[in-house]
Amino acid sequence: MNYNADNDNNKNSDGNMKADIESMYQEELAGFLKDKGFPAFRAKQVFSWIHEKCVGSAENMTNIPKDMRALLDGEMYHVEEETRQTSSDGTIKFLFRMEDGQMIETVFMKYHHGNSVCISSQCGCAMGCKFCASTIGGCIRNLTASEMLGQIYAATRLTGERISNVVVMGTGEPLQNYDNLIRFIRLITDEKGYNLSVRNITVSTCGVVPMIERLGDEKLPITLALSLHAPTDELRRTLMPIANKYSIEETLKACEGYFKKTGRRLTAEYSLMHGINDGTETAELLGRLMKGRGFHINLIPVNPVNETDFKPGSSADIQNFKNLLEKYGINVTIRRGLGADIDAACGQLRRRRTGNN
Ligand code: SAH
Repeated sequence: MNYNADNDNNKNSDGNMKADIESMYQEELAGFLKDKGFPAFRAKQVFSWIHEKCVGSAENMTNIPKDMRALLDGEMYHVEEETRQTSSDGTIKFLFRMEDGQMIETVFMKYHHGNSVCISSQCGCAMGCKFCASTIGGCIRNLTASEMLGQIYAATRLTGERISNVVVMGTGEPLQNYDNLIRFIRLITDEKGYNLSVRNITVSTCGVVPMIERLGDEKLPITLALSLHAPTDELRRTLMPIANKYSIEETLKACEGYFKKTGRRLTAEYSLMHGINDGTETAELLGRLMKGRGFHINLIPVNPVNETDFKPGSSADIQNFKNLLEKYGINVTIRRGLGADIDAACGQLRRRRTGNN
């Protein structure tokens, strides 16, 4: 599901697959440059250009000799701006084009506490959640670590602003692209690179249980967010195919295991769909299920997607749902739907360039 070896755009001037130098740890980059006959000190410079200065293309590495820049550029998977849309609330949605012509969406949001970027982890998504636009059309391929980094570096270059928070909540199921996700997290938090605080990264999953267990073993203090959306397996199965594979109980147990291993607070996301999972009885069931489990619940009034009929309830319905959960001592917030006017809100991201939701 990775890069297609038959696509000529993925090849360097020798006709081989690109080395993808932006996905390399500094030691790997040093090894690669050594094999090409360059002196060892270049690795530090190149690593800094890529990850600290976010140049995006080797042509801008001004203290590197021209012929070396050309060679390096031919080994990179570039992420380029195709279009952007700016919301009335200041949120920017970028459509980025990757080396093989595939498109992904990335959302830049400004908050009081800093700038946040929502990145995609796959091109498309295979999970099939009924209310989500990202999964229409299935999963085309995984993104490389460099393509996840490239979204943040490009957003930094294009806005001129430093990013302090990253949420892996765009298109794709990050735990289905596990190795690249871990490499991405290690690189974006590298002190000699972008140096993002690992605590400011959130990874959202629909609940791939074995991978949640594995993520806990990495001992990375990132925030884990579980897309729950229903208090019973029966209801969850009608909304999310993953619920046929793992029960809510085993999924919550895996998350609690994650908390035990990392000490990181857990979040559950719950999209409120009117007449489906937002009634008083459902709130009571959810309250009983989540009581005392230590999750923070993030309520997301469902964002409309053209191909589906899901609608959010009234603000009174939403407030009522929140109040009922709070009676169970649960910490609840209602997520602001930033960027909804440009289809940049949760579940509205997709691969295509035009059209409306
Ligand atoms: N695959 C991951 C991350 C991507 S989705 C996951 O499932 O968690 C990011 C969040 O947006 C998830 O909680 C998802 O369930 C939610 N979401 C999807 N479609 C939505 C919609 N139409 N309205 C509101 N939230 C939605």
